[in-house]
Amino acid sequence: MYRGIFLGPPGAGKGTQAKKAVAEFGLEHLSPGDILRAEVAAGSSLGKVAKSFMEKGELVTNDVIIGMMKNKISGITKGFILDGFPRTIEQAEALEEIMKILGHKLDSVLNFTVSVEELVFRLSNRLSCPDCKSIFHKYNIPPKKESICDNCGGTLVIRKDDCEEAIKIRMEEYRKKTSPLIEYYEKEGKLININGEGNSSEIYNEVVKALK
Ligand code: AMP
Repeated sequence: MYRGIFLGPPGAGKGTQAKKAVAEFGLEHLSPGDILRAEVAAGSSLGKVAKSFMEKGELVTNDVIIGMMKNKISGITKGFILDGFPRTIEQAEALEEIMKILGHKLDSVLNFTVSVEELVFRLSNRLSCPDCKSIFHKYNIPPKKESICDNCGGTLVIRKDDCEEAIKIRMEEYRKKTSPLIEYYEKEGKLININGEGNSSEIYNEVVKALK
C-alpha cells in the first residue's frame, strides 16, 4: 500500500499526475488546496480563515493546515498520495509525527521539477473545473468545448490565485518555505526527482515506475 508525497512548485503537474495515479492504483488523493477551496465555497469557518491567504497566493498558517491534514490522514484506510502537503519544514515534522502515531511508513517523495518560465506559462493559462477538479490549459490541454469540462460538463474557471500577482507570491512562498523540503527528504533517502517538463504520459510512466 503506497503512502507518499508529490512535491513541487505550483503548476508542476502534481495534481494532474496524482489524479491519474490514484485512479490506477486505488489510492486516496489528498490535496489541501482542493479541500480548502471546497471549504471556501461552502463558506465554513475554516474556509473563511483560509480565503484571504489563498487569494493572495500566501500559504495558510501551519496550525490550520496541520490540524486539517491530521484529521484527513487519520481517516484513510488505504494508501494515499499527499499532493501539496507538507509545504513547510514544520508541516513535514508534523506529518512525521502523524505517521508515527498511525504506524505508517512514508514510502517516497516524488519531486517534480519544472523551469520557472514553464510554470508561469502553465498557471497563467490554466482552466480548472470546480466540480470534478479536472485541470485544462488554454493551449496545451484545451477542453473539447470552450469553457466546458470534458470530464463532467462543469463550467471551467480561472482560479483567483492564477493571476499574475498571486502567481508571483506563490512562487516566492515555494522558494522560501517549500523548497527546503527537497533537502529534508533527500537526507531521509526518500526523494525521487521527476522531470515535470514535456509529455504528460511520459511523465506519468516515470511516476508509475517510482510508485512500484
Ligand atoms: P494548491 O491548490 O496546491 O495550489 O493550493 C492553493 C492554496 O491553498 C495555496 O496557495 C495556499 O494558500 C493553500 N495551501 C494549499 N496547501 C497548503 C499547505 N500545505 N500549507 C499552507 N497552505 C496551503
